[in-house]
Parts: sequence; C-alpha cells; structure tokens
Amino acid sequence: MTAAGLTPPAFSGPAPGDDFFPQRRFVLTCREVTDFLMDYVSGDLPPDVRARFEEHLQVCPPCVVFLKTYRQTMEMEKAAYMADETFDIPEELVGAILASRSG
Ligand SMILES: [Zn+2]
Repeated sequence: MTAAGLTPPAFSGPAPGDDFFPQRRFVLTCREVTDFLMDYVSGDLPPDVRARFEEHLQVCPPCVVFLKTYRQTMEMEKAAYMADETFDIPEELVGAILASRSG
C-alpha cells in the first residue's frame, strides 16, 4: 500500500529527438528517383516505394520534369519501334506483346 507502485503511463510519447515521422527518413533522393524511374513508369514499383516516389515528385519539380522527359522518350521509342516493325511483324506476335503489356 505505497505510492511506489504508481502505474506507468500506458503510452509514453516520443522522446524529444525521436523521429516520430519515420516515413520522413525514407523520402527518396533524386538519385533514387532516377533509379526507380523505369519501374515507376512500367508500374513495377511496390506500392510503398511508389508512394515515396510520388512524395518526392511533390517537392522536387526537377524530378517531375525528368519523369515527363523520360515518358516522352519512351513513347517516342515505342512509336519508332512500332513504325519500324509494322510491316512484317506477325499478328500473333503483336497479340502476345499486347497481352504481356496488359497483363
Ligand atoms: Zn528530385
């Protein structure tokens, strides 16, 4: 029956200096953004990485421009490739490519 057994707080908040926003530590650098760019454009990025990728884009206009340029380049290459290959490409191959792209 002493006061020594005071119940500890059920939840102790973050101590000063603690990183209470762990996700802040994972904001991607521009370098990482460029590394992930291909996966991002092709949709292969895991959702959590993708979220951080987009978080970076919100605060980094140069990376947005870079992404746009990258996408345009991809489109141009694809268009050039298609224009080149349309002549003798077998229709079933086209179908297989389209199927793999959508799938
Ligand atoms: Zn950046």
